[in-house]
Amino acid sequence: MVKTVKIADREINYQVINRRVKYPRLEFKTGGLVIILPEAATHDEQLVSKYRSWIANKSDAINSAITSAAKKKLVLHRSSRDFSVMVDRLISEHAKTLHVNPGKTFVRAMRSKWASLSARRNLTLNSHLRQLPSDLVSYVIYHELCHLTERRHNARFWALVERKYPNHDKLETVLLEYWFLIRDNEQKGE
Ligand SMILES: [Zn+2]
Repeated sequence: MVKTVKIADREINYQVINRRVKYPRLEFKTGGLVIILPEAATHDEQLVSKYRSWIANKSDAINSAITSAAKKKLVLHRSSRDFSVMVDRLISEHAKTLHVNPGKTFVRAMRSKWASLSARRNLTLNSHLRQLPSDLVSYVIYHELCHLTERRHNARFWALVERKYPNHDKLETVLLEYWFLIRDNEQKGE
């Protein structure tokens, strides 16, 4: 079900999905807002009003990333071999720095994120990272490995990230630009 909320001067569409989850979740990654609620729950409007400033900020960030992506042209075309050599190097480097012990690494096309970490400590990387500059790939890997110490995006987590990437906000913005750039290129069949 698609609904619309008006926040300040913006009209933001959002989709409500009921899924077998314990806690409600707000996702923005694919470009639109998705509210995931536990089965039978219907309090999406309460959530929207509770998080209206977060929603407005995310929506602005996405709109400006889409605008910047339109101006960007360059994406890299690394071979999967070069990519896996680079990834292995970055994982061992960051794991050493963070004193963590990740499991296996998988690379596959992912629809809503750059990377994820399973409960078994396995790292999955979005194969689209092959097209990104190495500093961004490095950040994505470092970020995921920090989750081996702290699962949630809380203050403790960001403090750990900041030890190596004090500029993580900027990197997250650029990652979002690449997200839309790659999506646009795919839609154009590049
Ligand atoms: Zn994270």
